[in-house]
Amino acid sequence: MEKQARAWWNQATQMVKEAKGQTDRFTAMLEQLAIRDTNISIPAIWALQQAGPIAIPVLLDGLQHTHTTVRRNCVDIIDHGGYGGDARCSEALLPLLRDRIPHIRRAVWHTLFCERCRDESKCEIGLSVELDQVALLIAIGVNDPNLKLRRQRVADLCQQMADPRVRPALEQILLAETDSEILAVTQRALKL
Ligand SMILES: [Zn+2]
Repeated sequence: MEKQARAWWNQATQMVKEAKGQTDRFTAMLEQLAIRDTNISIPAIWALQQAGPIAIPVLLDGLQHTHTTVRRNCVDIIDHGGYGGDARCSEALLPLLRDRIPHIRRAVWHTLFCERCRDESKCEIGLSVELDQVALLIAIGVNDPNLKLRRQRVADLCQQMADPRVRPALEQILLAETDSEILAVTQRALKL
């Protein structure tokens, strides 16, 4: 497998080299992301990760793609490729916090707030304002229709008790939520 991975990685490097900075070559790679054959999809994923800022407009298109696998791969490429600190990427990711596919919503939460993967050399346009995680959790995350995701987001919010907006939001959750696990976590955070 490691040998295979190295071959795919080298193939990706070659694809970036051959694209010679032409955006349409990277757009073509977007279509490869939906193909089930890993010999086709993985080199395209890694080429878009290696490409640098030239890939960003293509990835932004990919985030709007009708094919779930393409959208999901673009979210992961933005994260693993280090593009997460680019303002255009975070702005385009925000609406996907309401994507109809739960695993995409989960990946978007990770990518928006993952500091570990960010690579300044891949981000041409820096974030002008810090993303307000607490506000997003309160407005979107704790209302996620998927129970597992909602549990995670409530747990995330409970980690931010120092923020004065959290307590009233948790009190609201106590009134409206029916899941016993969420209720227990919330009560513990509020020390009830
Ligand atoms: Zn990450």
